[in-house]
Amino acid sequence: MQELIRQLLAELGEDPTREGLLNTPKRVEKALKFLTSGYDANIDEVLNGALFTVDYSEMVIVKDIDFYSLCEHHLLPFFGKCHVAYIPTNKVIGLSKIPRLVDVFARRLQVQERLTNQIANVVLDTIKPMGVAVVMEATHLCMSMRGVEKQNSLAVTSAMLGIFRDNARTRSEFLELIKLRAAGTPTRDMHATPGLACIDE
Ligand SMILES: [Zn+2]
Repeated sequence: MQELIRQLLAELGEDPTREGLLNTPKRVEKALKFLTSGYDANIDEVLNGALFTVDYSEMVIVKDIDFYSLCEHHLLPFFGKCHVAYIPTNKVIGLSKIPRLVDVFARRLQVQERLTNQIANVVLDTIKPMGVAVVMEATHLCMSMRGVEKQNSLAVTSAMLGIFRDNARTRSEFLELIKLRAAGTPTRDMHATPGLACIDE
Protein backbone atom coordinates (compact mmCIF):
# COMPACT_ATOMS: atom_id res chain seq x y z
CA MET A 1 0.00 0.00 0.00
CA GLN A 2 2.86 2.40 0.74
CA GLU A 3 4.09 2.28 -2.86
CA LEU A 4 0.58 3.16 -4.08
CA ILE A 5 0.48 6.13 -1.74
CA ARG A 6 3.89 7.31 -3.01
CA GLN A 7 2.49 7.10 -6.55
CA LEU A 8 -0.62 8.96 -5.47
CA LEU A 9 1.49 11.78 -4.00
CA ALA A 10 3.43 12.01 -7.27
CA GLU A 11 0.17 12.05 -9.28
CA LEU A 12 -1.00 14.96 -7.13
CA GLY A 13 2.08 16.89 -8.24
CA GLU A 14 4.01 16.36 -5.03
CA ASP A 15 7.54 15.18 -4.46
CA PRO A 16 7.21 12.01 -2.33
CA THR A 17 10.90 12.22 -1.42
CA ARG A 18 10.73 15.60 0.29
CA GLU A 19 11.26 15.50 4.02
CA GLY A 20 7.69 16.21 5.15
CA LEU A 21 6.29 13.42 2.97
CA LEU A 22 8.92 10.73 3.55
CA ASN A 23 6.93 8.91 6.22
CA THR A 24 3.52 9.83 4.87
CA PRO A 25 2.91 6.54 3.01
CA LYS A 26 3.60 4.61 6.21
CA ARG A 27 1.29 6.88 8.23
CA VAL A 28 -1.50 6.81 5.64
CA GLU A 29 -1.39 3.03 5.47
CA LYS A 30 -1.61 2.77 9.25
CA ALA A 31 -4.47 5.28 9.40
CA LEU A 32 -6.44 3.62 6.60
CA LYS A 33 -6.02 0.18 8.15
CA PHE A 34 -7.36 1.49 11.45
CA LEU A 35 -10.24 3.35 9.78
CA THR A 36 -11.30 0.16 7.99
CA SER A 37 -10.59 -2.25 10.85
CA GLY A 38 -14.31 -2.96 11.17
CA TYR A 39 -14.04 -5.52 8.35
CA ASP A 40 -11.99 -7.78 10.62
CA ALA A 41 -14.14 -7.40 13.71
CA ASN A 42 -16.11 -10.36 14.96
CA ILE A 43 -19.50 -9.34 16.36
CA ASP A 44 -19.65 -12.37 18.69
CA GLU A 45 -16.29 -11.42 20.16
CA VAL A 46 -17.32 -7.78 20.55
CA LEU A 47 -20.45 -8.85 22.44
CA ASN A 48 -18.78 -11.63 24.35
CA GLY A 49 -20.13 -11.74 27.90
CA ALA A 50 -22.26 -8.64 27.45
CA LEU A 51 -25.69 -10.17 26.79
CA PHE A 52 -27.92 -10.36 29.84
CA THR A 53 -31.30 -11.92 30.47
CA VAL A 54 -33.66 -9.46 32.12
CA ASP A 55 -37.28 -8.98 33.08
CA TYR A 56 -37.55 -5.51 31.59
CA SER A 57 -39.52 -4.25 28.67
CA GLU A 58 -39.07 -0.47 28.72
CA MET A 59 -37.13 1.42 26.11
CA VAL A 60 -33.34 1.19 26.38
CA ILE A 61 -31.72 4.18 24.75
CA VAL A 62 -28.09 5.17 24.14
CA LYS A 63 -27.84 8.71 22.80
CA ASP A 64 -25.13 10.88 21.29
CA ILE A 65 -22.66 8.15 20.36
CA ASP A 66 -19.83 9.81 18.46
CA PHE A 67 -18.89 8.01 15.28
CA TYR A 68 -16.41 8.51 12.44
CA SER A 69 -16.68 6.75 9.10
CA LEU A 70 -15.41 7.02 5.53
CA CYS A 71 -17.74 7.66 2.62
CA GLU A 72 -17.25 5.00 -0.01
CA HIS A 73 -17.82 7.43 -2.89
CA HIS A 74 -14.98 9.79 -2.04
CA LEU A 75 -12.97 8.09 0.71
CA LEU A 76 -13.53 11.19 2.82
CA PRO A 77 -14.78 11.24 6.41
CA PHE A 78 -18.32 11.61 7.55
CA PHE A 79 -18.94 11.85 11.27
CA GLY A 80 -21.53 12.83 13.84
CA LYS A 81 -23.88 11.35 16.42
CA CYS A 82 -25.70 8.07 16.53
CA HIS A 83 -28.74 7.32 18.72
CA VAL A 84 -29.75 3.72 19.35
CA ALA A 85 -32.88 2.48 21.12
CA TYR A 86 -34.56 -0.87 21.55
CA ILE A 87 -37.30 -2.49 23.61
CA PRO A 88 -36.13 -5.84 24.96
CA THR A 89 -38.13 -9.02 25.05
CA ASN A 90 -35.87 -10.86 27.50
CA LYS A 91 -32.30 -9.90 26.61
CA VAL A 92 -30.29 -6.69 26.78
CA ILE A 93 -26.83 -5.72 25.53
CA GLY A 94 -24.35 -4.20 28.00
CA LEU A 95 -24.63 -0.45 27.44
CA SER A 96 -20.94 0.04 26.76
CA LYS A 97 -21.14 -2.43 23.89
CA ILE A 98 -23.52 -0.34 21.80
CA PRO A 99 -20.85 2.25 20.89
CA ARG A 100 -18.51 -0.67 20.07
CA LEU A 101 -21.10 -2.05 17.64
CA VAL A 102 -21.39 1.37 16.02
CA ASP A 103 -17.60 1.46 15.60
CA VAL A 104 -17.50 -1.99 13.99
CA PHE A 105 -19.73 -0.82 11.15
CA ALA A 106 -18.46 2.77 11.00
CA ARG A 107 -14.87 1.60 10.48
CA ARG A 108 -15.54 0.46 6.94
CA LEU A 109 -16.17 2.22 3.65
CA GLN A 110 -19.79 3.22 4.03
CA VAL A 111 -22.80 5.17 2.96
CA GLN A 112 -24.73 6.59 5.89
CA GLU A 113 -27.97 4.80 5.02
CA ARG A 114 -26.36 1.36 4.99
CA LEU A 115 -24.42 2.07 8.18
CA THR A 116 -27.68 2.99 9.94
CA ASN A 117 -29.40 -0.19 8.76
CA GLN A 118 -26.49 -2.45 9.69
CA ILE A 119 -26.43 -1.17 13.28
CA ALA A 120 -30.19 -1.66 13.62
CA ASN A 121 -30.06 -5.15 12.12
CA VAL A 122 -27.23 -6.41 14.29
CA VAL A 123 -29.13 -5.39 17.44
CA LEU A 124 -32.27 -7.06 16.06
CA ASP A 125 -30.44 -10.29 15.20
CA THR A 126 -28.49 -10.44 18.46
CA ILE A 127 -31.18 -9.99 21.10
CA LYS A 128 -34.46 -10.28 19.13
CA PRO A 129 -36.05 -7.24 20.81
CA MET A 130 -39.57 -5.97 20.15
CA GLY A 131 -38.04 -3.28 18.01
CA VAL A 132 -34.92 -1.25 17.26
CA ALA A 133 -34.49 2.40 16.29
CA VAL A 134 -31.30 3.99 15.02
CA VAL A 135 -30.91 7.65 14.01
CA MET A 136 -27.64 9.04 12.67
CA GLU A 137 -26.86 12.68 11.98
CA ALA A 138 -23.60 13.42 10.22
CA THR A 139 -21.47 15.99 8.50
CA HIS A 140 -19.97 14.75 5.24
CA LEU A 141 -16.62 16.31 4.39
CA CYS A 142 -17.09 15.24 0.76
CA MET A 143 -19.99 17.69 0.72
CA SER A 144 -18.89 20.47 3.06
CA MET A 145 -15.23 20.68 1.93
CA ARG A 146 -16.23 20.76 -1.73
CA GLY A 147 -19.04 23.25 -1.11
CA VAL A 148 -21.70 20.82 -2.37
CA GLU A 149 -24.00 21.60 0.55
CA LYS A 150 -24.29 24.37 3.10
CA GLN A 151 -21.39 24.13 5.53
CA ASN A 152 -23.50 23.20 8.53
CA SER A 153 -26.02 20.89 6.93
CA LEU A 154 -26.49 17.53 8.64
CA ALA A 155 -27.52 14.41 6.83
CA VAL A 156 -30.04 12.51 8.95
CA THR A 157 -30.86 8.85 8.42
CA SER A 158 -33.02 6.49 10.43
CA ALA A 159 -33.87 2.82 10.66
CA MET A 160 -37.06 1.85 12.48
CA LEU A 161 -37.68 -1.86 12.98
CA GLY A 162 -40.44 -3.83 14.70
CA ILE A 163 -42.48 -1.83 17.20
CA PHE A 164 -40.69 1.41 16.26
CA ARG A 165 -41.98 1.01 12.73
CA ASP A 166 -45.45 -0.29 13.63
CA ASN A 167 -46.29 1.91 16.61
CA ALA A 168 -46.32 5.67 16.09
CA ARG A 169 -46.38 6.36 19.83
CA THR A 170 -43.23 4.33 20.51
CA ARG A 171 -41.52 5.99 17.58
CA SER A 172 -42.41 9.50 18.68
CA GLU A 173 -41.39 8.74 22.27
CA PHE A 174 -37.94 7.85 20.96
CA LEU A 175 -37.77 10.90 18.68
CA GLU A 176 -38.84 13.13 21.59
CA LEU A 177 -36.12 11.70 23.80
CA ILE A 178 -33.36 12.41 21.31
CA LYS A 179 -34.83 15.78 20.34
CA LEU A 180 -34.86 17.00 23.96
CA ARG A 181 -31.17 16.43 24.17
CA ALA A 182 -30.45 18.15 20.86
CA ALA A 183 -32.65 21.17 21.58
CA GLY A 184 -29.78 23.51 20.72
CA THR A 185 -29.70 22.34 17.11
CA PRO A 186 -32.69 24.03 15.48
CA THR A 187 -31.75 23.02 11.93
CA ARG A 188 -32.06 19.29 12.43
CA ASP A 189 -34.82 17.64 10.49
CA MET A 190 -35.96 14.33 11.89
CA HIS A 191 -37.93 13.56 8.78
CA ALA A 192 -35.22 14.20 6.24
CA THR A 193 -35.68 12.15 3.11
CA PRO A 194 -33.47 9.11 2.58
CA GLY A 195 -30.68 9.61 0.09
CA LEU A 196 -29.76 12.98 1.56
CA ALA A 197 -26.39 11.64 2.68
CA CYS A 198 -23.30 11.68 0.50
CA ILE A 199 -24.10 12.85 -3.00
CA ASP A 200 -22.56 10.54 -5.54
CA GLU A 201 -20.69 13.00 -7.72
ZN1 LIG B 1 -18.88 11.16 -0.42
